[in-house]
Amino acid sequence: YYNQDTFLYLNGAFVRAADAKMDLYSQSLHYGYAVFEGIRAYRTESGETRIFKATEHYDRLANSARLVNLPYRFDNKTLIDATYELLEMNMLQDAYIRPVVFAPANMSFLPNTDSNITIQVWEMQPFLGDRLLRVMSSSFERPNPRGFHIEAKASGHYVNSLLASQEAKAKGFDEALLSDMNGFIAEGPGANMFFERDGKLYTPSAGNILPGITRATVLEICAAEGIAVEEGKFKMSELKTADAAFFCGTAAEVIGWESIDNYQFPKPWAQTLSAHVQKVYKSWVTEKSTATISQ
Ligand code: PMP
Repeated sequence: YYNQDTFLYLNGAFVRAADAKMDLYSQSLHYGYAVFEGIRAYRTESGETRIFKATEHYDRLANSARLVNLPYRFDNKTLIDATYELLEMNMLQDAYIRPVVFAPANMSFLPNTDSNITIQVWEMQPFLGDRLLRVMSSSFERPNPRGFHIEAKASGHYVNSLLASQEAKAKGFDEALLSDMNGFIAEGPGANMFFERDGKLYTPSAGNILPGITRATVLEICAAEGIAVEEGKFKMSELKTADAAFFCGTAAEVIGWESIDNYQFPKPWAQTLSAHVQKVYKSWVTEKSTATISQ
């Protein structure tokens, strides 16, 4: 992720990653009490660097902080300008961007009066690869929204994601799919999902999932391309009559599935509407014109 020449952003300053310091008494380290974002920058067709949906991501960061009572004294313009500058300093165009808001030293359960922000950038490696994924329905459920603000992208929630992903890989799958506490399909450890049946797309409705920015983009693509899509509550068993399915997320982009558990999706990926959505997504993130994209 970094070497001697890498810079990161820390509380208003650009610092060499190797020299950056964090307080080991931070409440964030001890309790997983931090919020973060996963954002992506692309080299557009015209050669410029563009952060895809930067405002949506920094708005979600602010909202995540608010939901878990972390003070947030940063504004979007400062952070977005700093992110572009950081990309340039690190000579990156196709990059992953990771802002983290974290707490100061505090071993009590009392709220904080201040917080810290770091932004880190690194070269984007293929997240789940380009081949179709073999997905496993997880033995872990997503956190119960009555116990967490599930719509906050909070660091501690990701222990659940790590466990589910590690379990799937240990069993020979590529990735996990988790249910919510009522047994309805929720999402992957780091991505939302859609499935396709008879020329229509379906996706779990908001409420028990992270409201993904890519999910919203896929809904925009469906509207623009005249693809029917329905949000609702779906059981795992419904996947076993689907033609195709995919994960979508900032890092994952749109990535098709080969199978769920022992069920192989019957329709050749290239012939699905899902594959068309994947193509349109790839063009939206890199095209110069942003006319059709809310930024
Ligand atoms: N669900 C979870 C649990 C995630 O971690 C992510 C990645 N941020 C997503 C969904 C997809 O969100 P987005 O499209 O905003 O990256």
